[in-house]
Amino acid sequence: MTDPSAELEAFRAEVRTWIEQNFPKSLAGRAGALMGGETIDDSQREALEWGKRLGAKGWATPTWPAEYGGGGLSQTQARVLNQELDRAGAFNPLVRTTGMGITMVGPTILEYGTEDQKQRHIPRICRGEVFWSLGYSEPNAGSDLASLQTRAEDAGDHWVVNGQKTWTSGADISDWCGVLVRTDPDAPKRDGISFLMIDMNQPGIETRPIRLIGGASPFCETFFNDARAEKNEMLGEMNAGWTVGKRLLQHERQSQTGATSGLGGGPRKSLGDLAKEYVGVDEQGRLADPDLRARVTDQMMEAKAHALTLARIAAEARGNAKVSAAASIMKNAASTIAQKRAELSLEIMGSQGLGWEGEGFEKSELDAVRNWLSGKAMSIYGGSFEIQNNIIAKNILGLPENTQRG
Ligand SMILES: Cc1cc2nc3c(=O)[nH]c(=O)nc-3n(C[C@H](O)[C@H](O)[C@H](O)COP(=O)(O)OP(=O)(O)OC[C@H]3O[C@@H](n4cnc5c(N)ncnc54)[C@H](O)[C@@H]3O)c2cc1C
Repeated sequence: MTDPSAELEAFRAEVRTWIEQNFPKSLAGRAGALMGGETIDDSQREALEWGKRLGAKGWATPTWPAEYGGGGLSQTQARVLNQELDRAGAFNPLVRTTGMGITMVGPTILEYGTEDQKQRHIPRICRGEVFWSLGYSEPNAGSDLASLQTRAEDAGDHWVVNGQKTWTSGADISDWCGVLVRTDPDAPKRDGISFLMIDMNQPGIETRPIRLIGGASPFCETFFNDARAEKNEMLGEMNAGWTVGKRLLQHERQSQTGATSGLGGGPRKSLGDLAKEYVGVDEQGRLADPDLRARVTDQMMEAKAHALTLARIAAEARGNAKVSAAASIMKNAASTIAQKRAELSLEIMGSQGLGWEGEGFEKSELDAVRNWLSGKAMSIYGGSFEIQNNIIAKNILGLPENTQRG
């Protein structure tokens, strides 16, 4: 009989060797190398090349089936892979360069897609060749998503799509978009919606970037004017898009349960060390301000407890990691923890935490301000804080229906 722990250690050795041979050491600890400006510098080029290698091996999507280009690994093997990537200071660039592809669209296609859809879309996501966006929200349909009005009409051999989406992250740079459309205007709200995968490179689609308070412009207004969607690009049954769309949102929440997700760029040193640096220490070497000390300790304990809870959930899942309504709890906790950290960072920095530009500020200080501002979005995107609480109330606590159904 084979010894599973020996097998796992052999796998670890294989992974370690592969990383040594393929991950550029100059990128160690520099997951942010892909962020930033319009021009691509050498480290970005290197990060993209590293992403290609990881994708070709299937390890950017380690647990996806190998037949579609995934790694075909078990959850346990994937954990070993992650540990080894962490150990080398390596990262998965494709999580960023595929947009919503790896975290949301791919898992939903794997669950609801036809064989043909899986064959056409999944390998390209695994290799990082396509950037996906998601067109759910509209000017009159955010939390009340089922009020969406963008419609798709049957034109015989294809669908014709008309309407407007908004807050579509990365729409201007995306190749494909997962769009919720109304296919039966006479059915009750939730029963007339379908999920279409739409090729963004066509004249019927216009994107207008919206600038955010943090300075970046990560999302767009997206207009569909007689846009075309192929008949074989409907994900799930016609008029069953609400179920498919909700499932995708669970994957979205699942990807936002880490306390630092979505908040790149802020000061990554421990909050305690940051506070000691700016505020100073008492004669016992403790943070000098006792009130701040208590609040910093609280925040650090909450972050630690959150990380341990995530690790426990992963361990308990024992290879059967499934998304569920519980992701709403973790998403809300993650948002609160990350926002509190950003808030405390600025307080600790004092007047140095109020800068927007200029030589009087360190880059880390300017980043902290932008991080604080952009972090406000965390409790809005992927379903707002209040909507997650509604889901928790109904689907986990079993409380009676409120204004939100589903
Ligand atoms: C950075 C960012 C990226 C995004 N990316 C995308 C994207 O790629 N694709 C996409 O489709 N959308 C995207 N969104 C949109 C996001 O999903 C919506 O903003 C969100 O669902 C809230 O909708 P809304 O903005 O219309 O607010 P509203 O629904 O108008 O809500 C306003 C306020 O009312 C509260 N509220 C509303 N209904 C209830 C209720 N029943 N009970 C209690 N409180 C309620 C909300 O919690 C919120 O505080 C993004 C948003 C942000 C900020």
